[in-house]
This record gives sequence, C-alpha cells and structure tokens, in this order.
Amino acid sequence: MGALTIDREDDVAVVTFDLPGESVNKFTARVIEEFEATFEHLGTDTSVSAIVVLSGKRDIFIAGADIEEFVSIQTREEAETRSREGQTIMNRIADSPKPVIVGVHGACLGGGLEFALAAHYRVASDDPKTQLGLPEVQLGLIPGLGGCQRLPRLIGVRAALDLILTGKSVRSQKALRLGLVDELVPQSSLRETAIRAAGRLARGQRAKKRRPGLMNLMLDRNPLGRRIVFSQARKTALRQTKGHYPAPLAAIEAVEHGLRHGLTEGLKREAQLFGGLAVGDVSRKLVQLFFATTALKKDYGVDVDPDAIQDVRRVGVVGAGFMGAAIGAVAVTRAKAEVRFRDTDAGRVARGVSHARSHLEQAKRRRRLTSHDVDRLSAMVAGGVDYAGFEERDLIIEAVFEDLEVKRKVVAELEEVVPDTCVIASNTSTIPITQIQAQATHPERVLGVHFFSPAEKMPLLEVIPGSHTASWATATAVKFGRAMGKTVIVLRDSPGFWVNRILAPYINEAAWLLVEGTSIEAIDRAMTRFGFPVGPITLIDEVGIDVAEKTSKVFHDAFGARLAPPPVVDKLVKAGRLGRKTGKGFYRYTKGKKGKVDRAVYDILGVRPNRDPKLGDIEARLMAAMLN
Ligand code: NAD
Repeated sequence: MGALTIDREDDVAVVTFDLPGESVNKFTARVIEEFEATFEHLGTDTSVSAIVVLSGKRDIFIAGADIEEFVSIQTREEAETRSREGQTIMNRIADSPKPVIVGVHGACLGGGLEFALAAHYRVASDDPKTQLGLPEVQLGLIPGLGGCQRLPRLIGVRAALDLILTGKSVRSQKALRLGLVDELVPQSSLRETAIRAAGRLARGQRAKKRRPGLMNLMLDRNPLGRRIVFSQARKTALRQTKGHYPAPLAAIEAVEHGLRHGLTEGLKREAQLFGGLAVGDVSRKLVQLFFATTALKKDYGVDVDPDAIQDVRRVGVVGAGFMGAAIGAVAVTRAKAEVRFRDTDAGRVARGVSHARSHLEQAKRRRRLTSHDVDRLSAMVAGGVDYAGFEERDLIIEAVFEDLEVKRKVVAELEEVVPDTCVIASNTSTIPITQIQAQATHPERVLGVHFFSPAEKMPLLEVIPGSHTASWATATAVKFGRAMGKTVIVLRDSPGFWVNRILAPYINEAAWLLVEGTSIEAIDRAMTRFGFPVGPITLIDEVGIDVAEKTSKVFHDAFGARLAPPPVVDKLVKAGRLGRKTGKGFYRYTKGKKGKVDRAVYDILGVRPNRDPKLGDIEARLMAAMLN
C-alpha cells in the first residue's frame, strides 16, 4: 500500500500523506519516489489545476527524513547524492506551474518543513501541536533539501539563521509572524482553507508579499548588512561550540553561498556540505544519542506490569529548602501535579510555595502556560508545618537534611499518614537507599530520586530502587520523572549512583593536579577546551567546597585508596572558603559574578603552581579517571 492517496475537490487534487504502519509521516527513499510519481502524474493531468497536500496522521504533518534509513549511508558521495535527489523533487514542486498548497497540522520538521517551503502557499492550524522547525543541527547535520536556501529567501537571513542554527521549532502563531506560513486557521477548517487558497492561486492570484521592516532592509537585504550578520553568526557559533560541532558553521556557509551565488549554486554547496557532515563522527554520535534517548523514553528500567504503574496527581514535598522548593516548582509547572510542601520551618514552607508560584509566572512569561493555567495551578500549591493533606498523596519526594537518622524518621512519620500505595522517594545524594528503607513498614514503596541543581533546569533524573523496592514503585517514579520533563535513568543503589560516581574520580584527579603544582587556570582551561561548559575547579566552587569535601569522604570510604583525596582541601573549608556561596572559593566572586583566581588559595593549600603540564595531558588524566 502506498503512502499517498488522492481525492478531488473540483479541479483541485488533494493528496493525503499517511505512511502505513507508522505513527509518524517521514521521508523514506520509497516515499520520495512516490511523491515524485504522484506529482508527475498530477502535473500532466489537465483536469487538475492545483494540488493540496495534507497529512493523514493525527498530530503530525511530516516529522522529517527517516533517520534509521539515513544512518545506513556509508559514504560522503552517497549522502550528497541523496541530498541532490531530494532537492530535485523539491525543485520540481517549487517550479510546478500548478500551485502546490500545504495544510499543516502537527509537527512539520526537517525535511517536512523543507517540503512546505518548496510549496507555494502554507496554511497552518493554530493548534499548539503545530510546530515548525529545522532540527538538523541537533543531529550534527544541516537541512539538505533546500532548507538553507528557501528559508532565508522567505523570512530573511537573521530569522532563518536563528531557526537553522538552534534547531528550535516555533508554534504556528510565531510562524505566521515570521512569514513562514501564510494563513492560520482552526484545525477543523484546515482542509477547506487550503482548497480555497488553491482555487485562488490557480486563478492566478498571488500570495501576498510581506513588507520588510527597516532592520530587514538594512541587514537582510543589503550585501553589507548581510556580511555583518554572517560574521556575527560565525562568532556566536564558535563561542557556543568551541569548534567542536561543525554543523552550525556549515549551515552558515550554505546560506551565505546561496545568497551570494544564486539558488542553483547554493543547493549544490548545501548538498556537498550535507554529505561531509552526514558520515562524520560528530553527526554519527549525535544520532546515536538521539536513538538512545528515544529508546529510554519507553524503558522503565525494571520489568513491570504496565497496569501496576500509578498515576501521580498529588505530590508531597517534605523539606522545602533549596532542592525541595525547586522540585515542587517543577512538579506543578511541568507535571501539573497538586503539590503540598511540609517543612519544620514555617518560613521555608512559605518560601517553597512562593517559589513554585513565581516559577509558574515565569512559565507564563515564556508562553508555556496561559494565565488561566497559572491561576488554576497556583491554587494547587500549598504547604504547612504538619502533614495535613498527606493522607491523599500519590508520591512523596523527601528533600530534608542529608542525614540518615533524619531521613528514616521522616519515612516513619510519613508511613503513619500516607496511603499504602503512596511512593516515598528520597532525594539523597549519598545515603544508600537500602539503609533509608531498612526500618520502613512498607519498604517496597521507598526509593531514591536524585535531582540535580538547579532542579528547574537540569535535565537528568536518577531513579534508584533499594534492595526492597517493588518494580511498580520504581516505574511510577520513572513515569512521574518524565512527566516533569526529565530524562530518567534507573540505577543500582551504589555510592554516587551514576553522575557523582563518574564525577568524583574526575574532581579528585583535578585536586591532585592542583596540589602537584598545576595552576587553577590551566586545569579549568583544559577542560573547557575539551568541551565541558565549566572546568572542574569552577565546578567545585559552584557545588560548594564543603559539599565536595563531604562527598569525597563518602567515596574514599566506599572505594578506598584509589579515591583518596589530597589531604589539603579541608584547609579551605576551615578557612571559611566554601565557593561561590560565600563569595570566595578558588575564584573570587563579586556581586555574584565570577572573577579571577584568588592567589591566596595557593598559600592556604601550601602549594605553588610550577610549570603547567600540556593541556592535552591534563585532559587525558582527568578524562581517563572519569572513563575508567
Ligand atoms: P536545605 O538545607 O536547603 O533544605 C533542607 C530542608 O529540610 C530545610 O528547609 C529544613 O528545614 C528541612 N527539614 C529538615 N528536617 C526536616 C524534617 N524532619 N521535616 C521536614 N523538613 C525538614 O538542603 P538541600 O540542599 O535542599 O538538600 C536537601 C536534600 O537534597 C539532601 O538530601 C541533599 O543531599 C539533597 N541534594 C542536594 C543537592 C544540592 O545541590 N543542594 C543536589 C541533589 C540532592
């Protein structure tokens, strides 16, 4: 069975794309062939005056190219040829004497948007599910079906680069403002509107051209202005990628080449650049990451009966301190759960509630929530110094002090009030979950959920079942973590779980380099050059030198001599240097801004920086520790 069906509305042919056996529409080699044959046939059919393309899928227009098929490409030449073949079809559509109109509802991404760009008129549904974008750079690629050429011609260079270089997608309202779509309608009238537009275009009426604004005239349409735009874009791309990701620079080149030498030359260059990137190491790794992340979304980390996984609608957060307040905020904003804080300190409760509400307001400013959502969700956040309301919670996240006895006491108190099916999760960073659950009446519903700071932003969540945790409880926590927008991994109950377990040897090795006489600047520079957003010494300042010292003791106890910390870091803690939070750590901080290395640190540690090793040697030593 084919993917395209045609029906008629007078002299307008309506092509519906519905890829059989798949939940999404995507461009495979076969689909492309079918498009080619269909357009060829409709082109010669004299009873057809215009062509409308719609999707038969529920909330997807076209999700892009088939990535599985794409990774089977072995050589640069093959990738370039594929891109050229795809471009030929897009050109045929763009050059078709019969107008082609797309009616877009749902995701219109990558090759899907490039197809829409080749069409003559774009109608989109005003539904929030309608999202348009070119996410290729996120896979280390560039749009290779003419997107680097047609997008800047349609919406201007600056707006086009913004979409291509970030890979972000925009909703249809924004797309209309950008000029990316011509008309916005409710989903229910998408087909009818597209057909009407087809009739108008077939009668020779042209789509309205947008009048360019002043900045547009100065920067997008004049060669000198454009040169400034491209040079700025290159600088930003280099600053952000530190030269590790070739795709953004290639995209800039493809766009610039096309604007300078014309569409035909631009397409040729675009395909060449695409070919080089497609079989490159960076793209291959990013694609692997994409597959892994997609697979993870379907994996609960345990064998579980899907019917046993609970829906979490009401959450209790015990300990409304730094982490608790942030976790509660994400639970209500992202997962839309009812949140009740409990803290022994009434001031902390009040701060927790107000933090969650201001987080909701922030989501409204970013247009992720409507005013109505914010009013409704704000009313779902409350708290107190007792456990009132906890008799009807589905999940508790405990973020009290990092102390086994305090945590065990909280679990015991909770078990008195919460229902038997309520999952109790601890946000401990270092205490074994099996110890926390040991004295519980129902240890099977106790587990660990380890968030990272700032919990509002950090994407990873570690879920840790202890020896007695039931799989339904683990899967319930995983499901809720995903509802909070996190990437969730399930781990064994072992010291440091995963992140801290690989981070600890790395940080420890950095501390050894320092006491051996390597300068702080060299250590941090080596690792930012390697690609980390901050170096290890800056990271210690961010986390807190006291926290790092405590954690390093836990690891030393767990792993023995191979994780012995250098015997000097406690001197900094004793000197009251705790990092950013006290305004001084390895670096100096004024008004929250990081300044230079504080030379006094070397005196306190009793070391002198002597000759720095090569940056590559620092990198090798630190990364070997982490990888091993
Ligand atoms: P915090 O000191 O800011 O907050 C702890 C809160 O718990 C305080 O508000 C305190 O009043 C409250 N509390 C203490 N005993 C209580 C009890 N019996 N009942 C109710 N409330 C009680 O600490 P934090 O940094 O938010 O850390 C909380 C937990 O999160 C710890 O287990 C910590 O290891 C873990 N954690 C912290 C980070 C981080 O970056 N700070 C990251 C991951 C995990």
